Amino acid sequence: MGLSGLDIYKLLPKTNCRECGFATCLAFAMQLAKKAVSIDECPYLSSEAKAKLEAQAQPPIKLITIGQGETRLQVGNENVLFRHEEKFYHPPGIGFILEDNITDSEIKDRVEKINGLKFERIGQALEANLIAIRQNKDAKRFVDVVKIVSSNTLLGLVLMSDDTQGLKYALEVLKGKNPLIYHATKENSAGFAQLAKEYKVPLVAQADELEEASGLTVELAKQGVTDLIIEVSGKPMPERIWDLTQIRRLALKKSNRSLGYPSLVVIDKNDLYEEIQEAATYISKYAGIVLIKNIESWAVLSLLTLRQNIYTDPQKPLQIEPKLYPIGQVTDKSPVLITTNFSLSYYTVLGEVEASKIPSYIISVDTEGMSVLTAWAAEKFTPHKITETVNKFGVKGIVSHKHLVIPGYVAVISGELEDESGFKIIVGPKEAAGLPSFLKNLQYG
Ligand code: SF4
Repeated sequence: MGLSGLDIYKLLPKTNCRECGFATCLAFAMQLAKKAVSIDECPYLSSEAKAKLEAQAQPPIKLITIGQGETRLQVGNENVLFRHEEKFYHPPGIGFILEDNITDSEIKDRVEKINGLKFERIGQALEANLIAIRQNKDAKRFVDVVKIVSSNTLLGLVLMSDDTQGLKYALEVLKGKNPLIYHATKENSAGFAQLAKEYKVPLVAQADELEEASGLTVELAKQGVTDLIIEVSGKPMPERIWDLTQIRRLALKKSNRSLGYPSLVVIDKNDLYEEIQEAATYISKYAGIVLIKNIESWAVLSLLTLRQNIYTDPQKPLQIEPKLYPIGQVTDKSPVLITTNFSLSYYTVLGEVEASKIPSYIISVDTEGMSVLTAWAAEKFTPHKITETVNKFGVKGIVSHKHLVIPGYVAVISGELEDESGFKIIVGPKEAAGLPSFLKNLQYG
């Protein structure tokens, strides 16, 4: 939790000299609490006060970047415990562990499969983020595998090894690619901190208990490494969830800087169902990165879908561009279906139209992302608005039949819409699932 205006005021000189542009120190403090001004505006801060205020200006959970370019992963920088309080900003990275003790061709096959784990859902691209290479053999084999993987993927990489020499060779190979090093412990922190500093890459700090993790991040920070990700390992799932929740809670509510980093979870389960269930739990609360072994596409899709649902902004429904969408080989005889620009509504209708194999036009009306009934109740899906949209996209000049199909839930507007638009209104099914048979039997009277 950030400092209040009064907390900040106590740290100011209280001379009301006005050099900051405010009439009083209290007025300046209030603006500082809102992050509307910079602490540099007051030239008379003591170094102790400045250090405290600078610390307060940092995000409670540090933003960490792994990888580079368009496929880089950013995690952290969250402000709330619960999505409805604001929103979650950076979806957890989902990555796959590759062992280095399989053959080169098996590695290439797995990397190709991971690269192909791309899906589209309600107009958004869903993709996995990371490949973690785990050392089981000697440094040479580890580095060879790092070379194979890095030359076959653009995804960010995680280097899983206890061998600082092997890691050093691998980091040379990956210069500029910003991989994540896994992992420093209290026993090896000096060597790992040295590597993270030398190659300017993020580092996982691993401990068995929260207190130990907190001490380790403080120690690493003293050694100049602050791009950290925390792993509290070796516990059953309920205890891990407890730890992940405490890390988030202590960072946000108690301003605990030593735990103000994203967290990482490795799931080493051979049973696919157990692994996916556990990964889904950690995605829900509060992992920054989840590493798994299996790469079954249906299982990965379920995790990506869950992540997408949790990390959408609850105050902003997903929307698509309001316009006329031709689906299939449309002609001037094709039906024209009206729906809203709420993504889920549009894509549900789209799916059923495609399933019907009847080329159709779909018009999405701008309802500010509300679904059909909500938009109708909020007067965003009115005969006037629908008519405006139909006219805007020139439907009269595109089809020759002068019919519009509206969702069954808003049958009540059909008369008024008919008068206003000049089209004959056909009331479609209430549920999109009824569209295929409706479209197959559709005849214009
Ligand atoms: S410059 Fe500093 S001391 Fe002067 S009024 Fe502003 S906050 Fe107070």
